[in-house]
Amino acid sequence: MYNPLSHKAEEFICHEEVLETLEEAHLQSGNASRIKEILEKAARCKGLSHREAAVLMECSDPAVEQKVFALAEEIKHRFYGNRIVLFAPLYLSNYCINGCVYCPYHAKNRTIPRRKLSQEEIAGEVQALIRMGHKRLAVEAGEDPVRNPLEYILDSIRTIYSVREGGNSIRRVNVNIAATDVESYRKLKAAGIGTYILFQETYNKEQYERLHPTGPKSNYAWHTEAMDRAQEGGCDDVGVGVLFGLSGYKYELTALLMHAEHLEARFGVGPHTISVPRICPADDISVEDFKDALPDEIFRKLVAVLRVAVPYTGMIISTRESARMREQLLHCGISQISGGSRTSVGGYTTAERHDETAQFDVSDTRSLDEVVRWLLENDHIPSFCTACYREGRTGDRFMSLCKSGKISLCCTPNALMTLKEYLMDYASEQTREAGERLIARSLGDIPEGRVREVTLERLSRIAAGERDFRF
Ligand code: SF4
Ligand code: SF4
Repeated sequence: MYNPLSHKAEEFICHEEVLETLEEAHLQSGNASRIKEILEKAARCKGLSHREAAVLMECSDPAVEQKVFALAEEIKHRFYGNRIVLFAPLYLSNYCINGCVYCPYHAKNRTIPRRKLSQEEIAGEVQALIRMGHKRLAVEAGEDPVRNPLEYILDSIRTIYSVREGGNSIRRVNVNIAATDVESYRKLKAAGIGTYILFQETYNKEQYERLHPTGPKSNYAWHTEAMDRAQEGGCDDVGVGVLFGLSGYKYELTALLMHAEHLEARFGVGPHTISVPRICPADDISVEDFKDALPDEIFRKLVAVLRVAVPYTGMIISTRESARMREQLLHCGISQISGGSRTSVGGYTTAERHDETAQFDVSDTRSLDEVVRWLLENDHIPSFCTACYREGRTGDRFMSLCKSGKISLCCTPNALMTLKEYLMDYASEQTREAGERLIARSLGDIPEGRVREVTLERLSRIAAGERDFRF
């Protein structure tokens, strides 16, 4: 029985409710007045239910699709302004006891070299990331209670925050590790993590069990209920995601939104971010093995439908996608991207761009400086902002500011100030020139006169050597 308030995975991600939603979406996809009503609701920026979003996804009328794309772009601008937040993944260990068939780190893969970073090696990676200009990391590790116990993750977080390099440091560490218990989430929160990220991979239980034959992750309920335990442990910013291509995308989109509705119903706050990775080739993995691999056109539409359905949620795209695809997705509502990423263990301090320990192939192999310049040339403000969680704006405090439409009052000046820091400390000459031009152009986008004045003053102080201002 479907119940968004239930603690049980199979009740808040109810299979029958997903199937009924898809059936109704099919019936309604040609109903012009129903679609008009849904588009009008989306335009009011109040979000859409999973049933409404499914109808938009099902509708193949090109005029409706164009409207959805336009709304997605407009909504992203209205909430977050022009900024695109940048981050990098940091792989700590590829030891893993799970059997996920789509991931080269699965326990039975004997061809991949296994590696776990020592604290000294982590410090070296972090120095390299800081020297690139990063301020925000997503820590990644396989599940292995013996080799990668929670204490190792906690030590690693402490190491990351302790590293200083040329007066700069990492200011926010998000963590993407296996589902765990409430007490462990409490410890992660106490260690100062930003967002706790865990991808569902697929919400379809039957498919989930087929793709996760062994290891603790094979328990669908334990995995699907993880965000509830994270919230109970005080991690009030949680990041969800699906690995699109593992199962039918319409099913996944519906269930992902049901998950968001469940978190909102139970904890008063939906997911802080949604990631939209797509299955891609890697060691031991070929996309041909996945018949549900998603074509670009459908993927773009799916991202746009998600954006209009959850206007307050950050949406993340990684370097799994090519530069060309990322450019298109920036117009569909994406608000965060990774840049200069290495998806291997120790990848930032090894000479090769890709080594044999990588989790997946990187399609966008540009350096961070190239990514920053590309964003600038496309009139986006590259942002290294980490202000919200450091100002205590997490969970429902963040969401209420976001829902009131006031978050862009913080996002835009913070983006300009952190961009200025980047330009002063790490940018190439060409990027610096493009960045300075964009800062000059964008100051007028700050609607509040007083905030604009303070931003201007702080930009001069950053030019004079001061750092780390925030609203
Ligand atoms: Fe391990 Fe995660 Fe890869 Fe599964 S997806 S094998 S849990 S690293
Ligand atoms: Fe993100 Fe908050 Fe910074 Fe905006 S102000 S970019 S929401 S951390």
